[in-house]
Amino acid sequence: MNKFGFSISQGRQINYDEIKSDKLDKLLELVPSYKWCIGCGGCTASCSAGGFTDFNIRRIHTAFQRGQYDGLEEKLKSCMLCGKCLLVCPRGVNLRSLIINMRRILAGVDVVTWRPPREDRIDKQLAKQNEKNKRI
Ligand code: SF4
Ligand code: SF4
Repeated sequence: MNKFGFSISQGRQINYDEIKSDKLDKLLELVPSYKWCIGCGGCTASCSAGGFTDFNIRRIHTAFQRGQYDGLEEKLKSCMLCGKCLLVCPRGVNLRSLIINMRRILAGVDVVTWRPPREDRIDKQLAKQNEKNKRI
């Protein structure tokens, strides 16, 4: 048979009933405002990290919704948590919290006790400072 340089595209239907949703359920519990997301892409358009890399926050949270977790943890490391996306979101989704909690869930960290690494560092510095003050 002659080949004309094109072929039938693979189906890209997504059956949400087949997706194991425990991670998404957890995320929605931690960030209820994510239920209001309409997938407009405003977050991606305004993203500081997206301006310099191929980081695409809407693609990432959409993949998370679909249970396509491969590589997401690594990709999320590009986010600087600057919060610009949060300011432009027309639905008031708390994107910074969404990103932090996606990272927690993907890393399998206990979501009750986990705190961002930066806070840990600040706590350690404060503890050190307190020790020093006690000695003076
Ligand atoms: S800007 Fe808000 S509503 Fe639009 S895709 Fe991003 S999170 Fe969803
Ligand atoms: S918080 Fe992250 S996703 Fe949002 S604009 Fe800043 S770098 Fe982009």
